[in-house]
Amino acid sequence: EKEAALAAASTPLDSPTIFDKIISKEIPANIVFEDEQVIAFRDINPQAPVHIVLIPKVKDGLSGLSKAEERHCEILGRLLYTAKLVAKQEGLDDGFRIVINDGPKGCQSVYHIHVHLLGGRQMNWPPG
Ligand code: ADP
Repeated sequence: EKEAALAAASTPLDSPTIFDKIISKEIPANIVFEDEQVIAFRDINPQAPVHIVLIPKVKDGLSGLSKAEERHCEILGRLLYTAKLVAKQEGLDDGFRIVINDGPKGCQSVYHIHVHLLGGRQMNWPPG
């Protein structure tokens, strides 16, 4: 966690991340949804039976939610709406959780905005 925070602190926020390679299909991912704007794939280190990461294909400066500008409103809405579609597709009819980690204290490790969709078990509150 400390290493991730240090790496994040020393990496320019607009530099490419592993997610660019998923978008370009340079590295394999278990993609569950894709359209013009959004790609969703199974998390490599799942924290629930269903754990999917949804990202915009075009980062446009949106390394994290804290960098959001008015122009990002449409893609932010699209990410949440797509999360709902994928939750349905995954059969999460009894509920699910959406998480957006931001910055070191939010435990963000990949600086390309993403929405976590978690489900398939009882979620607890408060989160860790
Ligand atoms: P954290 O790593 O603390 O969950 P983030 O909110 O930045 O922080 O989440 C990044 C997520 O991306 C992690 O859940 C991680 O497991 C996932 N991830 C990283 N690399 C890959 C990959 N190549 N394929 C799928 N998921 C990945």
